[in-house]
Amino acid sequence: MPRVIVDEDKCVGCGLCEQSCSEVFEIKDDGVAHVKSNSCNSCDLKEIASQCPVEAITVE
Ligand code: SF4
Repeated sequence: MPRVIVDEDKCVGCGLCEQSCSEVFEIKDDGVAHVKSNSCNSCDLKEIASQCPVEAITVE
């Protein structure tokens, strides 16, 4: 299973990752994205990571 990490210091809370996959990403009250789950059967998590405007998402 991949490991998904969001660098909360880099995240600007744009919401793109949550829009792409709400199974894995959630913007919480602190305004930044958090990882809810490390897997999603229907998403390409590396592709979502590559779309983050500030490169805050790492998929290992
Ligand atoms: S796409 Fe990147 S900057 Fe935008 S909410 Fe997700 S982790 Fe944060």
